[in-house]
Amino acid sequence: MKIIEAKDIVYKYPDGTKALDNINFAVEKGDMVALLGPNGAGKSTLFLHFNGILEPSSGEIDVDGEKLNYKKKSLLRVRQFVGIVFQNPDDQLFAPTVEEDVAFGPLNIGLTQEETKKRVKDSLRKVGMEGFEKKPPHHLSGGQKKRIAIAGILAMDPKVMILDEPTSGLDPKGASKILKLLYELNAEGMTIIISTHDVDLVPIYAKNIHVIKDGKIIKKGSPHEVFDD
Ligand code: ADP
Ligand code: ADP
Repeated sequence: MKIIEAKDIVYKYPDGTKALDNINFAVEKGDMVALLGPNGAGKSTLFLHFNGILEPSSGEIDVDGEKLNYKKKSLLRVRQFVGIVFQNPDDQLFAPTVEEDVAFGPLNIGLTQEETKKRVKDSLRKVGMEGFEKKPPHHLSGGQKKRIAIAGILAMDPKVMILDEPTSGLDPKGASKILKLLYELNAEGMTIIISTHDVDLVPIYAKNIHVIKDGKIIKKGSPHEVFDD
């Protein structure tokens, strides 16, 4: 079953830049997909369509088999279903402590203090950051910030997690740690979509790869199919 689908998506920024040029892209439930392409190819722009932050100039986005509509109530629902981790964790982390940061999402969707507390604890454990509850996020390393940003999304209990360049700015060890975490989340059933311009790391983890260039998908398939010619 397709959990995310983009049909004939064209997107033009207000200044006229055509960032997406008739994109067709589908992700099956339970998949771990990498969107691979150089800077400026359209990866971030495409991702921002999957939880309705951007509305296509033309075309349709389907989430969980339903056409995305841009009414406030539906958007709230879709943003719980599809979590996006931005490339720069500083865009996402703003509370004075790690635990308040991770609690922001659950409290925002109206969960009780008790349920929120439980989710914060579980999410920090999953990303290997228990013990950091009282620390200010801006004092952490890049990799740790990334993991806190991921914990904040996990605490919303999404079915799809999208990560924009999750390994950018990390050393190889930090990068493999993040990818290993994503691999584990995927093994537990979460659908994962990551963008990257890094040809080396991704094929080890992704089940399927879509290659994007100049706002177009130019290739897709298993890592073997994409890289063996
Ligand atoms: P990627 O994530 O692959 O690096 P982006 O989606 O950020 O690519 O960018 C795709 C294209 O859209 C690029 O040409 C970029 O310069 C342009 N772009 C991105 N954001 C904006 C914006 N806010 N306004 C105008 N053009 C933009
Ligand atoms: P990414 O690699 O994630 O696309 P970028 O460095 O391309 O990140 O973009 C960072 C921010 O700048 C994004 O919010 C993007 O929308 C915006 N941006 C990128 N290109 C342009 C552009 N040509 N004009 C205006 N904003 C842009």
